[in-house]
Amino acid sequence: MTEPLHPLLTRQLRRLGLDGVEAPAAAGWLALLERVSQAYSAGDQDRYLLLRSQEQTSGEMADLYAALQAERDLLETRVRERTAALRLSEGRLANLVSLSADWIWEQDANLRFTYFSDGLRIATGIDPATLIGRRRVATDEIDATPEAIANHLALVKARAPFRDFSYGLRRPDGSVCYIRVSGEPIFDAENRFQGYRGVGSDETQSTLAARHAQQLASLDSLTGLPNRNMFIAELELAIGRARRKGESFALCFIDLDRFKTINDSLGHAAGDVLLTTIGARLRGLLRDSDLVARLGGDEFVALLEGPADAAALSAVARKMLAAVSDPTVIDGRTLWLTGSCGIARFPDDGEDAAALLKNADAAMYQAKGEGKNTFRYYTAALAAQAAHAFALEADLRGAAERGELVLHYQPKIDLATGRLRGVEALVRWQHPTRGLLPPGDFIALAEESGLIVPIGRWVLDAACRQLRAWGDAGLDAPRCAVNLSARQFGSESLLDDVRDSLRHSALAADMLEVEITESLLMANPERANLTLDELHALGVHIAIDDFGTGYSSLAYLKRIPAHTVKLDRSFVSGLPADRDDAAITQAVIALSHSLSMQVVAEGVETDAQLDFLRRVGCDQAQGYLIGRPMPAEQLAKRLRAIGNLLEQAA
Ligand code: C2E
Ligand code: MG
Ligand code: MG
Repeated sequence: MTEPLHPLLTRQLRRLGLDGVEAPAAAGWLALLERVSQAYSAGDQDRYLLLRSQEQTSGEMADLYAALQAERDLLETRVRERTAALRLSEGRLANLVSLSADWIWEQDANLRFTYFSDGLRIATGIDPATLIGRRRVATDEIDATPEAIANHLALVKARAPFRDFSYGLRRPDGSVCYIRVSGEPIFDAENRFQGYRGVGSDETQSTLAARHAQQLASLDSLTGLPNRNMFIAELELAIGRARRKGESFALCFIDLDRFKTINDSLGHAAGDVLLTTIGARLRGLLRDSDLVARLGGDEFVALLEGPADAAALSAVARKMLAAVSDPTVIDGRTLWLTGSCGIARFPDDGEDAAALLKNADAAMYQAKGEGKNTFRYYTAALAAQAAHAFALEADLRGAAERGELVLHYQPKIDLATGRLRGVEALVRWQHPTRGLLPPGDFIALAEESGLIVPIGRWVLDAACRQLRAWGDAGLDAPRCAVNLSARQFGSESLLDDVRDSLRHSALAADMLEVEITESLLMANPERANLTLDELHALGVHIAIDDFGTGYSSLAYLKRIPAHTVKLDRSFVSGLPADRDDAAITQAVIALSHSLSMQVVAEGVETDAQLDFLRRVGCDQAQGYLIGRPMPAEQLAKRLRAIGNLLEQAA
């Protein structure tokens, strides 16, 4: 036997006391067979059980497989159905999307565009491919209010839905279109932000129509330029744009000098023509992208966008002033007008529309104060000055009624005899906190604000009352000259005011003299002549003040019914050394005498001046040498002294 016995058999043999080598006894043999038989039976049993369990398992497996199969079939059916439904709805959506002018868009978690439906191209002409990967449709020129933009950005930052955000942008061809977008944020199962998906629509037609309607309501009906409301709205948009791009821009505020005088003297129709003409000139002068508006009255404003240095701005300001001062012919009459311009820049000179306008206005005011027909930049110091002027103007209102105005009187003497020939009444303002203010501090302000008319009326009246008082006190009151300002001279009530003042004080008209500056006469010679003729007819004396500074034509001078020419102080100050001044002085004297007018030299401060004037035949002199402007009581003393002298001489 080569193969060893199976271990189980070996164990059975051992248990029966057999060794498997020697043949067992009969009993042992039987026992062995029994055990072997039992072992076979147990094996059969095991095999049976195994078979059974195998059978059972495979049955179950078959059941399971069948169930799975059924389920898979069901799923497949469902998927088929769903796919079909989806196709249908996709098709439907695609149809709708392509039918409407709208489009669909998607952005990823970084807010970069990943998809646009073709509607975008159809509606706006923008190729969607150029936008994929970008974060914004409009990189430039978002024409929306700063609030709307801020609101939109806040919603996007909060990953919130947004609705109907409207803005303007530039098409590839340069034209502007307006679109409106709405979007919904997308989140995944873990609530992580995945991007936005939304719709957009083109609103160009309706926006332009609305804008047009709005424009019609926001244009100034006289000049056709944008009006104040529209200007402020545009200014706010410009501020938003400049802020986003970190750019600056400038505001030029232009006010016409002495426009009110022209309006008052030539009539409103002429004033309207002037405003329209100047508005058109300013509009034609600037780039299309610059905004020119009329804020009201004689105020124009230009918004100059894009970076501009001071030199470029100054050049534009100069051009605008030149456009204003180009002569304008109205009804065959040539008018010369000038303007004053104030410039404020964003963001340095103001962060919002109100501050920018206010500061440009302050700068304009400064330009006016410095001789008009010029421009000024806004500065902080200027702001303080403007505030001062505003406060002063408020104080000036009612100053006459409150008794704060006083007249000082400056004597004029006859050069041949040395005798007092007249006085000039010069107004002063006893300001409650600032002390006694000279007319240079407030007359221009009064002129601009129109307060000059009541103030001038008060001056006329006070001068006449003073003459009456001196006369009543037994003094030999001299003729008194009163200065008339442009607006007062142009006012309808001037003649009535003069008549009333004379009557109230029961004065002869030739006790009163009015001084009108040469430049005022030249602003509107024909109209001035009418007024002068009437004053002359009343018997009031007429003097031309500051003569030599206003470029009068000699032919014109001939037609003026004036009694006196007042040679301006600027010529007298150079006498006798300055040859030009000496020549002018002599020419003025010769000319005036040839027209039967007297010459008064203003601002005589030295004996040398007085001697020269006397030598060349000047009639009268006025100046610090003869006497400073003085209060009425002081002049009364002088009158009394003269009276005493005359009495002694008699
Ligand atoms: P104006 O009519 O030419 O008056 C003469 C000015 O020269 C006065 O200044 C006077 O004080 C000043 N003056 C007189 N003599 C001399 C001199 O020897 N040297 C110098 N340096 N100056 C001299 P004021 O009083 O300051 O008046 C200035 C201007 O204000 C006046 O110039 C006049 O145009 C205007 N003004 C004064 N009072 C009135 C008024 O009641 N109504 C109006 N509308 N304007 C007035
Ligand atoms: Mg005067
Ligand atoms: Mg003068």
